Amino acid sequence: MIKVVKFGGSSVACAKQFQKVKDIVLSDDARRFVVVSAAGRMHKDDNKITDLLYLCHAHLRYSVSCDPIFQMIEDRFIAIKNELGLTYPIEKDLDNLKQSLRKNIPLDYLVSRGEYFTAKLMAEFLGYTFLDAKDFIYFSYDGSIDFVKTKEMMEHHLLKSDHFVVPGFYGAMPDGRVKIMARGGGDITGSILAKVIEANVYENWTDVSGILMADPRIVKDPRRIEKITYSELRELSYMGANVLHEDAIFPVKEKNIPINIRNTNDPFNPGTLIMELENDPSSHEGSLVTGIAGRKDFTVVAIYKNHMSNEVGIIRRALEVFEHYQISIEHIPSGIDSFSIVVNSADIKENIYDIVAQIKEQCRPDKVKVISDIALIATVGRHMSYRPGISGQLFAELGNNGINIRMIAQGTDEINIIVGVENKDFEKTTRVIYEKFVRD
Ligand code: ASP
Repeated sequence: MIKVVKFGGSSVACAKQFQKVKDIVLSDDARRFVVVSAAGRMHKDDNKITDLLYLCHAHLRYSVSCDPIFQMIEDRFIAIKNELGLTYPIEKDLDNLKQSLRKNIPLDYLVSRGEYFTAKLMAEFLGYTFLDAKDFIYFSYDGSIDFVKTKEMMEHHLLKSDHFVVPGFYGAMPDGRVKIMARGGGDITGSILAKVIEANVYENWTDVSGILMADPRIVKDPRRIEKITYSELRELSYMGANVLHEDAIFPVKEKNIPINIRNTNDPFNPGTLIMELENDPSSHEGSLVTGIAGRKDFTVVAIYKNHMSNEVGIIRRALEVFEHYQISIEHIPSGIDSFSIVVNSADIKENIYDIVAQIKEQCRPDKVKVISDIALIATVGRHMSYRPGISGQLFAELGNNGINIRMIAQGTDEINIIVGVENKDFEKTTRVIYEKFVRD
């Protein structure tokens, strides 16, 4: 049994958290591959080391001293080292980095040092081998991961040790330059590592006990999701539930390696298991709904034209207008004489008048209506597919509660039902759906 265990920023924020990580790792022999984020926030008003490093870079770019910020970074790492009684000469490495701080220091290199130093300290604390991510995670020039090279490099390192601590969030370009991933990318590192060593489980340790069925800021004490499929999680994270970086799903999904979301501060809680699950439509086991998530601030551009369904190419022409402005489309609900294009309000705000003008020119519609301040709420559940009547119940419940549905969309595999409502109804809609399908 091999487990890749990834600890997020708050799990490695200070010496006390380091100790919790050690207890977790050493309590299970299978936990041999440890990935860490940069030290994060110790409390809600604290700073993340990664944010401070970005801030240093911004100061350097404008030739403003970043000394006070760099000092905060040094203080944090040295405090962890001293409190844990470690010997790694981090002061020297921090000092070297300080000497190299100048206007043209590569952003990727500087920002990656947060995970680098955290991993160095953790490796010594656990007695595991430090393995620099730049020595095995390789990107191709197009920015995708070069899995062939990454696997080859990892096999080479495995000849020397089988207990590693790896800094998350970065890798190397083919020429060896450090390249960072998207924010929160430590999750992706864990997933890449799990894939290349063919781990049995990828444990992702954070500060929440798994994924909740709804946003706790909206629904009081929502239940924890025990098991969820990769596709259900994709739907929920796309709609705003963000416990795990969404790109962390693909590498492990391919190999069907389960991801277990766990809480460093509540280690006995089993958390949430993300894996491929059989969908047996005749089974009544488990809740119909796996989770509910949503986002506010969408804009619907509704295009009306009589006899539209007989006209070839009208949707394409409208979509080309959006393509021209590089705006990605969320949904395209359609009727017989109308269709709507749903986009993020932030993406369209600047060009809305030009877009409407061009749609009028390209599509010659009878009417174009722009409806802003729309929230989308996705109700996701693998058990909903092939079950008649679920959408009906959902719409009826919203109607009974006086919520006006402005738009409806459903994915082809029927694992989600998306409703568009006015922003002001967002929270209420989420609660009504939760009460109906989960609490009932
Ligand atoms: N340290 C990086 C960030 O704050 C990556 C991570 O934590 O996963 O975005």
